[in-house]
Amino acid sequence: MRDVMTICNYCGCGCGVYLKVHNNTVIGSYPSRHHPISRGNLCSKGWHLHEFVHSSNRLTQPLLRKSGSLTPVSWEEALDYTAKALLTAKEQTGADSIGILSSAKCTNEENYLLQKLARAGLGTNNIDHCARL
Ligand code: SF4
Repeated sequence: MRDVMTICNYCGCGCGVYLKVHNNTVIGSYPSRHHPISRGNLCSKGWHLHEFVHSSNRLTQPLLRKSGSLTPVSWEEALDYTAKALLTAKEQTGADSIGILSSAKCTNEENYLLQKLARAGLGTNNIDHCARL
C-alpha cells in the first residue's frame, strides 16, 4: 500500500489530499496535515474523492441518443455528430446559443482545452464547471 499526494479536483480551493493505493487500485483518500490549504481537513467531497476513479458507472465510450435510447458509438461518429451539431447551432442561432459544461473529474489541462474550444473555437463565453468557486 502506498500514499500518493495530490490536489483535490472537486473545487477551486485546492486542498491537499493523499490517495491510498493498493495493487494499482485507489482505495481511499485522506487530508494532508501539512498542506497550507486543507491543514488536515477535507469537506465531504474530498473524503470521497477516490470513489469515482474505478467506478463501474463511469462512461467508457461515447453515447448518442438514437430513437430515444443512449447508444454506444465510436469516437469518430460522436465527434463528427457533435462538430456538425455545434456548427449548425452557431450558424442558425449564433455562438451565444451554445453552452458547454465541463467536469471536475477531468484534469485541469482538459478543462483548459475545453474553454479554449468554447472561446477561441466556437466564440462563446458560455462555459461552466461544477468545481467553480
Ligand atoms: S471539494 Fe472540498 S476537499 Fe476538495 S478542494 Fe474543495 S473544499 Fe477541498
